[in-house]
Order: sequence, then structure tokens, then C-alpha cells
Amino acid sequence: MLDKSSAPAVNVPNDLAAFWMPFTANRSFKQAPKMIVGAKDMHYVTSDGRKVIDGASGMWCSNAGHGRKEISAAIAKQAEELDFSPPFQFGQPKAFELASRIVDLAPAGLEQVFFCNSGSEAADTAMKIALAYHQIRGEGGRTRFIGRERGYHGVGFGGTAVGGIGANRKMFGSLIAGVDHLPATYDRAKQAFSIGEPEYGAHFAEALEGLVALHGANSIAAVIVEPMSGSTGVLPAPKGYLKRLREITQKHGILLIFDEVITGYGRLGYAFASERYGVTPDLLTFAKGVTNGAVPMGGVLVRDAIHDAFMTGPEHACELYHGYTYSAHPLACAAALATLDIYRDEKLFERSLKLEPVMAQAMMSLKNEPNVVDIRTVGLTAGIDLAPRADAPGTRGYDALNRGFHEFDLMMRISGDTLALTPPLIVSEEQIGEIAEKLSRIIRAVA
Ligand code: PMP
Repeated sequence: MLDKSSAPAVNVPNDLAAFWMPFTANRSFKQAPKMIVGAKDMHYVTSDGRKVIDGASGMWCSNAGHGRKEISAAIAKQAEELDFSPPFQFGQPKAFELASRIVDLAPAGLEQVFFCNSGSEAADTAMKIALAYHQIRGEGGRTRFIGRERGYHGVGFGGTAVGGIGANRKMFGSLIAGVDHLPATYDRAKQAFSIGEPEYGAHFAEALEGLVALHGANSIAAVIVEPMSGSTGVLPAPKGYLKRLREITQKHGILLIFDEVITGYGRLGYAFASERYGVTPDLLTFAKGVTNGAVPMGGVLVRDAIHDAFMTGPEHACELYHGYTYSAHPLACAAALATLDIYRDEKLFERSLKLEPVMAQAMMSLKNEPNVVDIRTVGLTAGIDLAPRADAPGTRGYDALNRGFHEFDLMMRISGDTLALTPPLIVSEEQIGEIAEKLSRIIRAVA
């Protein structure tokens, strides 16, 4: 049981015992809870009344900043008009409107949207669509998936299996069968302190030819990668890498899935990273920023040709036997439409692109702080690698996260000893400077 005498007195529930927190060291959290009770614009408010600058868009979600009245008003209005309607066999107008709005933002060729509730569901949905697509075309032998080391695609069985993070897989047995991984695209010796796309590393894509040779193209359903791995430490795709993956997948009839759960909705200065990199996948997953984090929602953008195969195939294929009670939930659709209006009206994607050099310069100014061994920046995103403590690898990042929040009023994300900075796209130049200045003090404090 928690020793309640050690818990802060203000605004913290007396009993922290019953909530089993996700991806959290539950015992140590409860010794010094990082408790958040409010949020407005660029700041969180803590249980002891402090304002903490949000250097993480919450969790890569709140691109338009917090407490947006336009979004909460749209949610409240929708809840009164139509709180819920069944998404199977029935439609509600906002689902169709939102799908069109998202298609308008997407690269040409991605013309259909399948809705779900999270990035994890989006990854598993994309994988199931890929399997079904091959099957209805008489290529049911294509069942293998290829992910990537250091990839993250959420926590469903499919997403966990194609993900490349040992800790996330090890407790859960064999997951799904027939999964291989491409190598990660990171090589510190050749890429350190890169701004934008690293020059070195396009050749990492050639490993796909090796896997095709090993298994046979006609056994592979799809390749899934993030254009920039976010939660595993901000690893932008090297120049030319994604194009090469596209060429190889096309040549072998393998579908290419981009997981844009983090890179979607402006993080890299465009609606989707696919546009930035000039590479259009066959399926593209999104979540997080689509509703500014205000209501859970995810989805998969799908190439017309894939959708057509279902519509023109055998009668039974017209129905995809997949979906969720909360697919295209009315409150999520209302939140997303209001969010997309803000992104458009405030030109936030353009703003993100404009601030990219400011972010890069501010973050690179930390190059000579103690233990900094690499910094990568792209879009409005930075990853800062700290040298691991010899006696306790991974703890320096954790210390930075905790001390950053409790002592320096900065919210960041971490992945091991990598600090990830991904502020809302409304961040000002001064606030980018403030985040860098706080980071400098935090990095020294944990040295
Ligand atoms: N894919 C990527 C690239 C992600 O970063 C995440 C979440 N950080 C997910 C999928 C999973 O999303 P969710 O937590 O909404 O299920």
C-alpha cells in the first residue's frame, strides 16, 4: 500500500491504489505523483498549482495547444444533438464529412478513410485490410508482415508484433506468426547531430530485398514503417530511404503502410509526412492530432485501388468484417472537424514548417551540455540522446522527465535516455527558447 504521508497534500486523490497505470512504473509514480489537473494553450497546471510548459503536445497529440474552446464547444453541441449512433449499417453525417476533409488533406491516391479509436487500432486495422485485400484477389498466401527494429505501432497484437521494441514484446509470447523486421535506420557514427533527413542511410531499405529473397514475395502482405519513428527516440527517415522502400514494395506487389500517428497533422510541417517526403504509401494510419487529443480517434487512409478491389469483388467482400462500436464516434468526428478548422484557419502546418529552423537552432545549442551524445531535429521535433549512466542505463532520461516536471516546469517525453521535444504547433519562438533553456538546466541537473 502507498504511504499516504509522502503524497503531496494539494488536489491529489487520497487513494492512488486502484488505477493500474499504463506504461508507468506504478510504484515509483505513487511515491511522487506527477499529477495534472488543468491545461490551457502551451501549459499544463499541476496539482500543486504550477504552470508547466508543454514541450510534448501532451503525447504528440495536442498540436493546436490545450483547452481550445472551438473543440470543446463542438463536442458539447454534438453530445446534445446526437451522442451516439451505431456505425454498422447506419451512418451519421459528420463521419462522411470528416472522411472527405481528411482525404482533402492526404496525398493524391489515398481516397478512403476507415475510422477507429486509436493508433493501435489503426495499425491493426491497416494490417487486416492488407490481408483481406490480398485474399479477395486470390493472393491469400500473402500473410507475412515486415516491420522495423525500433518501430512502434501501438499495443494490439498486430502492432506489437511488427513493432521493434523488445520490452514491449517480451512478456507476450509469440504474438502473430510470420513477422520479420528491417534494421533500424539509425547509425550514430554516420548521422550524429542531423537536421532534417540524415544524408546517410538510404541503403538500409535494401534489407527488404533480402527478406523478399528469403521468404518469397508472394508470401508478404505488407511492410509497415513510421516515416519518422517518434516514441522510440525521434529517428527521421534518411534521405531517399522511403522512396527506395516504395520502389521495392511496388516491384513485388507488397503493400506499403506508413504509420503517421505521430507525423500526421503538421508535426513535420505538412498534413502528412508522406507529402514532405514525396512518397505515397498504400495505407496510412493516423490518430492523436486528428482530434487534438481531445477525444480518442484513429483511422486508416486507403488507396482507391484497394477499396475498389473490395467494391468490385465478390458480393460478400463489399462488407469488410471489421470495425468498432466507436468507429467514427459522433463526438470524435465533431472534435476532429473543429480541430481541422483550427489547423486550416491558423495555418498551423505552415507555422510548424516555418519554426523548423528555430527549433533546430535552439536544440542544437545544447550540443555541448554534459552527456549529450546526439541531437536530431526535424519539423517541430527533436530527440536529444544522453549518454547512459554506466551503473544504470536508461535512468538519466527518467530522471530528466521527473525533475523536468517537478523542478523545472517542463513536460517532455522520453525513450530510454533520449529526451523527445515536440511542442504544440502554436509554440512561439520565445517559448522554444524557454524550452531550450530549461533543458539546459535539466541536463546539467541529471549529469
Ligand atoms: N503508432 C505510432 C507511431 C505511435 O507513436 C503510437 C503512440 N505513440 C501508436 C501507433 C499507438 O497509438 P495509441 O497509443 O493511440 O494506440
